[in-house]
Amino acid sequence: MTTHRLETDAVHLGREDLADLGVHVPPLDLSTTYPLPGVGRGGESYETLATGGRPGTGDSLVYQRLWNPNVDRFERGVAGLEGTPGAVAFSTGMAALSAVLLAAVAAGTPHVVAVRPLYGGSDHLLATGLLGTRVTFTTVDGVAEEIRPDTGLVVVETPANPTLDLVDVAGVVAAAGAVPVLVDNTFATPVLQQPAALGASLVLHSATKFMGGHGDVMGGVVAAGEGWLSRLRQVRAVTGGLLHPLAAYELHRGLQTLPLRVRAQQETAVVLADRLAEHPAVAQVLYPGHKECDPQGLVGTQMAGPGSVLAFELVGGYDAAAAVAGGCRLITHAVSLGGVDTLVQHPAALTHRPVAADAKPGDGLLRVSVGLEHADDLWQDLAAAL
Ligand SMILES: *Cc1c(COP(=O)(O)O)cnc(C)c1O
Repeated sequence: MTTHRLETDAVHLGREDLADLGVHVPPLDLSTTYPLPGVGRGGESYETLATGGRPGTGDSLVYQRLWNPNVDRFERGVAGLEGTPGAVAFSTGMAALSAVLLAAVAAGTPHVVAVRPLYGGSDHLLATGLLGTRVTFTTVDGVAEEIRPDTGLVVVETPANPTLDLVDVAGVVAAAGAVPVLVDNTFATPVLQQPAALGASLVLHSATKFMGGHGDVMGGVVAAGEGWLSRLRQVRAVTGGLLHPLAAYELHRGLQTLPLRVRAQQETAVVLADRLAEHPAVAQVLYPGHKECDPQGLVGTQMAGPGSVLAFELVGGYDAAAAVAGGCRLITHAVSLGGVDTLVQHPAALTHRPVAADAKPGDGLLRVSVGLEHADDLWQDLAAAL
């Protein structure tokens, strides 16, 4: 933990040793294997790393699947921003969620209580039970009564994908009792919300989104306390969903501009959400910055700001939504979010396609991830498509 403010930590965490190394940016270590100091000591290093420990001074790193210095730097950055003792990074957000689920199954607590809505991929993974979990989908109010002796995890997302529903994290933590709560913090980022301070045991990110921020790198990361860190590192070492060192390098660099990007994108999202709400073709805007979407007043308390993802429902339903998504020129019709360029997509047809019919977003709903372009240019494009 440091005494610096978030902006300073974003720039410097995971880089503390660079001056001593005589370099200005982190050296990129692409080694898949490492020289061993001897069979005995090499074996001990292997044992430490394969069971989720950290390398000690002078230990061999043995093999990239067990440890990589660039991944470690990125993890230290994320942990500092989220205010947790550490973090464990994976190849994608879904690999990160899979590792948490496997750890819950291995602990003999395979039941998951999940609050909908969730990202379509997370919903799908839980609904299929592919990893041996058993899920009960519920609402925030149902969490306490769905907890069973074999419940290993409560999963929530806030703001949630794609409707931007907000969940009171401290309330869910209280309802979960002794059961650890995982918060998917992808939409808010630690710049706007730090769930660990509200009692969440696990904070998950698709680093592919805001952390990378430029649409050119995939990754996932879980910030947590010591017990979970070693379990998650063990799952990663054994199952192999590791982050590539070059991806870790890019994500670590992404953290440096994260606060600036998140706030600038948010500023533009506020403008677009207001203009969309005035447009006759728009039935409803879903954006945490609009009072009716935040009945509990979580923006300004739990969250420092409403973020830069919004959704809106077209008066003309599916046909109108499809026409708008296809009619944008400056805005790219594509899935994903959190990058420097603005994207629009139709959740029911794409990101939330696998979600059960009764939980699927509406056919007239579009989701927009607002980037760093000028608000007036984005509005001109959207207005023309509308
Ligand atoms: C994209 C996303 C994920 C999955 O992350 P990948 O990096 O695509 O595997 C999980 N949760 C949320 C909220 C997301 O937006």
